Amino acid sequence: TEPGRLRNFCIIAHIDHGKSTLADRMLQLTGIVDQRAMREQYLDRMDIERERGITIKSQAVRMPWVVEGEMFALNMIDTPGHVDFSYEVSRSLAACEGAILLVDAAQGIEAQTLANLYLALANDLEIIPVLNKIDLPAAEPERYAQELAQLIGCDPGDVLRVSGKTGAGVAELLDRVVERVPGPTGDADAPARALIFDSVYDAYRGVVTYVRMIDGHLAPKDRIVMLSTRAQHELLEIGVSSPEPTASKGLGVGEVGYLITGVKDVRQSKVGDTVTLAKNGAVDALPGYVEPKPMVFSGLYPVDGSDYPDLREALDRLKLSDAALVYEPETSVALGFGFRCGFLGLLHLEIVRERLEREFGIELIATAPSVVYEVQLETGEALQVTNPSEFPTGKIATVEEPVVNAAILAPKDYVGTIMELCQSRRGALQGMEYLGEDRVEIRYVMPLAEIVFDFFDQLKSKTAGYASLDYEPSGLQEAELVKVDILLQGDRVDAFSAIVHKDKAYAYGVMMTGRLRDLIPRQQYEVPIQAAIGARVIARETIRAMRKDVLAKCYGGDITRKRKLLEKQKEGKKRMKMVGRVEVPQDAFIQALSGD
Ligand code: GDP
Ligand code: MG
Repeated sequence: TEPGRLRNFCIIAHIDHGKSTLADRMLQLTGIVDQRAMREQYLDRMDIERERGITIKSQAVRMPWVVEGEMFALNMIDTPGHVDFSYEVSRSLAACEGAILLVDAAQGIEAQTLANLYLALANDLEIIPVLNKIDLPAAEPERYAQELAQLIGCDPGDVLRVSGKTGAGVAELLDRVVERVPGPTGDADAPARALIFDSVYDAYRGVVTYVRMIDGHLAPKDRIVMLSTRAQHELLEIGVSSPEPTASKGLGVGEVGYLITGVKDVRQSKVGDTVTLAKNGAVDALPGYVEPKPMVFSGLYPVDGSDYPDLREALDRLKLSDAALVYEPETSVALGFGFRCGFLGLLHLEIVRERLEREFGIELIATAPSVVYEVQLETGEALQVTNPSEFPTGKIATVEEPVVNAAILAPKDYVGTIMELCQSRRGALQGMEYLGEDRVEIRYVMPLAEIVFDFFDQLKSKTAGYASLDYEPSGLQEAELVKVDILLQGDRVDAFSAIVHKDKAYAYGVMMTGRLRDLIPRQQYEVPIQAAIGARVIARETIRAMRKDVLAKCYGGDITRKRKLLEKQKEGKKRMKMVGRVEVPQDAFIQALSGD
């Protein structure tokens, strides 16, 4: 298709404002998915997406659309809404010329509405403002059209009104996309250049690489080269998702599609890389993407040590479609061989962990998540610490922790409650602004460590679900942080070390020692469990020595309490780990870390 007949656009919105549902209506209306095959949130293909009702991966789909007798090809990209996946959103935006900014007509503008709008503007996209869910009795289209128009600086009359549920207004919306979104520009005669914006591993077809063509043309049988690795391949198949993969004769300027080379090695196809022809190819790579920076680290260990090689293989594969995931081997006294993994946030961690367990069948233990600390030693040496057990002892000049700019949107009645919560999480108020009569945006600088752990849940429950949150990294800030170690009979258990603010160290020590006392069975001798900062003990519990005759009973007694969890666990997990002289069932570590 020639560029003048192409429209590349994405749908951006706050979570749950109806992107995926609107995408469903588009698939139906353009006739590429028929009534029989239709199911809700059609493009959310992963089980985990369907169960949780959230989009994790962006999906690109090509749809035909006729306006005044002229046939257009629309490439629509549905994007995730959660703050952890904004990296996914930003890649999608770079493949588009326009964005539908969708706002729930019963909710109004929320935190991610703003964040995504700013991303789209930064990418020079044509913005099409749309109110969704106008079928809801609680919808207030007049009010929110005003709000939205004011935000982007247009006339309230230009804000379209649709319902992804009933399909009302969707045809007009597609007409508007054709009218307002510019066709892609690029040089058809230049050497081929295509930007890789996603790639996935398929058990039958090998690596499937999704590209957006910038210049030139690619066709089946072409020999291609990946500019960053210089790896060469023959194109076995080239095509478009519509929404099933459909082979085509080639892709030209501005088109979005997939490439298959039969390659199985996932490292060959790197998101952000440029594809060109091996002969007379382009020399200059496209700008690509800013590497995403992992914000939260955790150790992932296979419950069954023999799964370690499989875990490595699984991580390699996930990494292919999830560029933000990083990992390196790590060993732990308590947990054996595993990987220290970096994630964009806790939801990202949870999703990766669940995918490893479900798609690859590997049972995992995750250590307590940690952010990345910058430690300056008195010698002038600087260290980056992603694993609390590697936090240096003594001789520390300063410790800096990552902070974020957080924006919270809520009805004005909740301002007091929200400020209280933010203050208790070491937040510093930056400003407050009314976005309408009733909605307030409150801005804080807060330590990332305080925001990634259950802050959002707290915020939701304290505001009856009305507050929304967005945040972005904002550098480092010095803080009074200490490492709390947990010792069993004087030996440090690495997996339980944590870096916490000095005012919260005692509470952590008491909680962890108490938990372990309940989980570790009695031994032949008394075992002290201590929490310590350096050499200073701040909390202590004791496991009393057992009397020989009650061995069986007392062992069982400790375990029955957690029966439900234990039942799920295999024989192999009854294994014991030695920490110094103390014998600890691996389960005890798992349960102490799972923290319920
Ligand atoms: P996303 O997170 O933006 O992709 O949102 P979804 O498409 O998953 O929709 C979130 C929820 O809103 C789902 O329960 C949908 O059924 C519902 N929803 C989406 N669009 C509409 C609409 O136009 N009207 C009504 N009444 N509900 C809708
Ligand atoms: Mg969705």
